[in-house]
Amino acid sequence: MSSISQKLQAVHESIRNSTAQASRPGDAVALLAVSKTFGADAVLEAIAAGQFAFGENYLQEALDKIIAVRTATTATVATAAAGLVGAVEWHFIGPIQSNKTRAIAENFAWVHTVEREKIAQRLSDQRPAALAPLNVCLQVNISNEASKSGVAPEDALAVAQAIAALPRLRLRGLMAIPEASDDPVQQRAAFRRLRQLFIQLQESGLMIDTLSMGMSGDMDSAIAEGATIVRVGSAIFGRRDQASSV
Ligand SMILES: *Cc1c(COP(=O)(O)O)cnc(C)c1O
Repeated sequence: MSSISQKLQAVHESIRNSTAQASRPGDAVALLAVSKTFGADAVLEAIAAGQFAFGENYLQEALDKIIAVRTATTATVATAAAGLVGAVEWHFIGPIQSNKTRAIAENFAWVHTVEREKIAQRLSDQRPAALAPLNVCLQVNISNEASKSGVAPEDALAVAQAIAALPRLRLRGLMAIPEASDDPVQQRAAFRRLRQLFIQLQESGLMIDTLSMGMSGDMDSAIAEGATIVRVGSAIFGRRDQASSV
């Protein structure tokens, strides 16, 4: 099994190939390393390899890890001197319960999984004044699955406009987790629907720049359809055990 550093390199190479194939600039796609279920040691290994943005799904696990990583990077003279402590950026990518919004607003730079105005309102109210506005993506149920999270595509514009009006949030764009498929044609069709919705919202006057779509199994399709952030876990950190995987 290769190291986290080697797997990160392989993912970057795959992103470079996909952007080139889509005639998109090499820096058009940012990599969010999804570290859920993996420990602070794995995150520190990725930081040492130059990765600074991490995605987490479970709040308590994330808070423990954020503190452990901050302590470790602060304690190491080299990383502290290099400014790495402040460079690490945490993204919340899991389902959000109302009673968790304060801790999310206080500890994360981004939230990809906002799907209700009420949650957005709480995040805005609870975002500390000392921090920059919280970057958020509106999650869309692009495959129209009854069981899946996200707003229905037809409601996306209204909810996006409501979020964009909140003072302590910065609406950045849209996020989706399409129905899993091994077929690139189906993968691309779902990602294309999200991109078309994104363009509609831009044409309605919303200043948005982010399409958060694509995971380990479908990132190439997502990049072909315009992803600007891919959220990649297992291709970097390895397989998650069944019990704790999502
Ligand atoms: C777990 C997760 C990922 C990463 O999935 P992999 O298949 O391990 O790359 C991306 N996005 C969300 C929302 C997740 O929950």
